[in-house]
Amino acid sequence: MTDSIERLLEAPSTRAPSLGEAAPINPFARKLVRIPAENAGQEGNHSETAVQAEQQRQPEKRPEPPRAAVANKAPHELLAKRRDGHVVRDIENSGGKKGVHDPFWLGTRLVELKKLTPSQLETAIAMYRAHPTEGFDSALEKLSFGSQTEIAQLIAERYGYGFVEIPRHGIPPTLVRKLKQVRATHHSVVPYKEEEGRLTIAVADPPRYMVSDAKQDFPGVDIGFVVAAKGDILAAITDGYTAAAENETPKQILDTLIADAASDDITDIHIEPKPQAVIIRRRRDGKLHYHGAYEPVLKKGLLQAAKTMARLDIAAAALPMDGKARYEAGSTTFNLRISTLPTAFGEKAVIRLQNETRNLRSMLDLGLSKEQIELLVTYAARPDGVIFVTGPTGSGKTTLLYALLGVTADADESVTTIEDPIEYTVPAYTQSQVDADQGRTFAVLLRATLRQDPDIILVGETRDTETAQITIRAALTGHRVFSTLHTTSGPSAVTRLIDMGIEPQLVTGAVKAVVGTRLVRTLCSCSLPMSEPKRAFTVAKYGPGEFREPKGCERCEQTGFKGRTLIAEIYPLDHEGTAELIMAKTPIDKFTRHMEQYGTSMKEHGLQKAKAGITTVEEILSAVSN
Ligand SMILES: [Zn+2]
Repeated sequence: MTDSIERLLEAPSTRAPSLGEAAPINPFARKLVRIPAENAGQEGNHSETAVQAEQQRQPEKRPEPPRAAVANKAPHELLAKRRDGHVVRDIENSGGKKGVHDPFWLGTRLVELKKLTPSQLETAIAMYRAHPTEGFDSALEKLSFGSQTEIAQLIAERYGYGFVEIPRHGIPPTLVRKLKQVRATHHSVVPYKEEEGRLTIAVADPPRYMVSDAKQDFPGVDIGFVVAAKGDILAAITDGYTAAAENETPKQILDTLIADAASDDITDIHIEPKPQAVIIRRRRDGKLHYHGAYEPVLKKGLLQAAKTMARLDIAAAALPMDGKARYEAGSTTFNLRISTLPTAFGEKAVIRLQNETRNLRSMLDLGLSKEQIELLVTYAARPDGVIFVTGPTGSGKTTLLYALLGVTADADESVTTIEDPIEYTVPAYTQSQVDADQGRTFAVLLRATLRQDPDIILVGETRDTETAQITIRAALTGHRVFSTLHTTSGPSAVTRLIDMGIEPQLVTGAVKAVVGTRLVRTLCSCSLPMSEPKRAFTVAKYGPGEFREPKGCERCEQTGFKGRTLIAEIYPLDHEGTAELIMAKTPIDKFTRHMEQYGTSMKEHGLQKAKAGITTVEEILSAVSN
């Protein structure tokens, strides 16, 4: 092996000890002879293999010799070669990831077997570095340096398990369904065989699903492991769960999908036709997750069921369509919005679920600090002027405005909201739905509202110059106005208004404050304190805090996150020098620096939450960077 390869292999010094160094290939297989006392009553090799392998892995896990070595290095030494975006993640991965995610042994072995040249290994490692979360096996596969089967065979050899190829529909559906689909997919495992009370489980990457996991899923069952290619395992899960749906009609499948989504806090269901399957993905807490797949034969049926529900034309598959439906779950009503789009492999449908009866939440529940609430309420309560809340779609703008209205609107005041769509139903307010097709634009409804003697107006979104002009005029003529702007930060609301053609002096006269918001995911209760050396690095960069990291459990569907919280920046425009900068049409960067002197930025507010262990630094950085 060349020097450069050795250096490459050495660089991720946080990784588990090299198998290539510790023992040639298969250190665990040799330990099979002895059966541990607690298992003496059980027969068969797989189980012992699994238990032994687990015991062998334990010392790596607990005292963590590799981490100790890392602790002697300063964070910057570990990170020297990395690009900033990947630094933290790479440290995180290298600490715990073994098996196929550790380039050491798989790469070394492939070179030993002459299936890979040293320079190819170098290329694969470089690719892995660029996408560390995808795993080294995925890098090898993308480069065609190793097939899934080849890799699986090496992994089997490495852990002393048998290797199996799983034919399509090769496992009885009842057996596949012994493990929940989400868990099986997440860990790439599938119950493979059941004989005489012994359950054999096929795994793609043994460290991802250990004996302890299996014992938790199948208490009291004698367990054995075999290794299979990841693609085979995922296909077997799909087959098993699809087959189970065979005697269900597409409508029944769709009903189950919607009922599950409603109870799982899902906001969108994506039904995506692919050549080999219909893929279901669901959005929860803002992120899209793989949920399951059905045989391609169900493509048409599922789409027709969705269209029928929304009273759309089943025959018209060539055009995108948009329809509505309702779904009642107990006392909760969901508004469903169904849209279809023709794609290369058939029509794709997205079902958006909106909880009509959801309760308004207080600003404190949403995630604002008491200081922020006090500041916002002070400005909102002033008799005239407008407050703009900014952020991308789904950043909690409207939710925040409703919470603010709840606090600042008196019972004897007239409140009108103009929205598209109406997000919360409040009987005390006059709520008007925009419908551009019918000529009811924001501008038209806003003008009509102004003739009706309102005290408070909520303009769902200021998206064009005309609406901006009327909003500003309403604010200057004795109304309390609230609106949102689709911009990235509080300060950029000001530049956007000027770009829309609003005179700077009207902006300074009418706008009381600008607010920036994002929703970030909060850690599930399964989170763990951040491990070294990432903690040391994070503290060095962001200051002391109780940083935590996601783990994953059943409750959070293995994502490590559950629920969301708002992070916000609130900038009043009446501080010294602000009006002058607006009049001078100051560029956004300079204007932002000026505003930040007078308040906590969104990023700062988010980092406070990361320091309190509510969310992660990565979550904040990714939220504020878009
Ligand atoms: Zn969890």
